[in-house]
Amino acid sequence: MVPGEMIEGVHPPLISKSIFLKVHQNLEKFGGGYKIDLEVEELPMKQFLKCDCCGNSMTGYLVKKKGLYYYKCNLKGCANNRSQKVLHEKFEQLLLKFTFDKKLVPIFKKMFLTLLSQKTEVNEEGKKELQVNLASLRKKLDGIEERFVLGEIDQTLYTKFRDKFRANIHQIELELDNSQNQLSNLEKAVDKCINLSLELPSLWRKSNFGRKQRIQNLLFPEGIQYNRKKDDYRTSKINLLFSAIPYLTGLVEGYKKGDSNFSAKIPTWVVPLGIEPSTY
Ligand SMILES: [Zn+2]
Repeated sequence: MVPGEMIEGVHPPLISKSIFLKVHQNLEKFGGGYKIDLEVEELPMKQFLKCDCCGNSMTGYLVKKKGLYYYKCNLKGCANNRSQKVLHEKFEQLLLKFTFDKKLVPIFKKMFLTLLSQKTEVNEEGKKELQVNLASLRKKLDGIEERFVLGEIDQTLYTKFRDKFRANIHQIELELDNSQNQLSNLEKAVDKCINLSLELPSLWRKSNFGRKQRIQNLLFPEGIQYNRKKDDYRTSKINLLFSAIPYLTGLVEGYKKGDSNFSAKIPTWVVPLGIEPSTY
């Protein structure tokens, strides 16, 4: 799926295009074939880390005498710096929130698909609307041809409307095609997200520089903030699928503790914890 190839229609898309594209861009990045500049293997979080004090990207350096790496804020005078070892450990702790017990895979998958099917229901309506519009455009095209044949309109007028109707018909046909692919792709995205999250955080730890970066960017598309005072991370934007995991884990915990209202709470998850749906 090349974003540039996506055709913007006159009708509301069946699945929010930004959501769709972001899931796919991120998963494709993760899938590999992604060019990465030569970098210091030990500092995969360079640029990905933002200084919570001033908002600048953090860079890294090596203290040769000690043989130790550090991350530091790029801004001159901002004293935000911390050892790579500590920041990596803290990142693994953060990743722990996005993993879950393998035993829960079936229920998590069901929950994700419930969320997806909620979107799908809305989309079915959009699909019907497109089909109605398509039928009406085809009728208009037939009508204009008939009028031209009968000599009621001239060639110029006929060509003008014929081309317009044909372009609109083509557009709608493309959108209907796309919607089919989008749904099955979103289901694949759920599987990919689940498989990846089961292996966190060890997968990140074991990965090389490039893969570490892809995992980081997949989960946190805009990086994460490191707060020196609290000596901890702050996350703003989280991949929507992954952002559901801490929430669902919380529900499961509640269920274990006897919260019988468990399943009733699932549909309330639309925008969890104040995260915008556009933050895939
Ligand atoms: Zn700073």
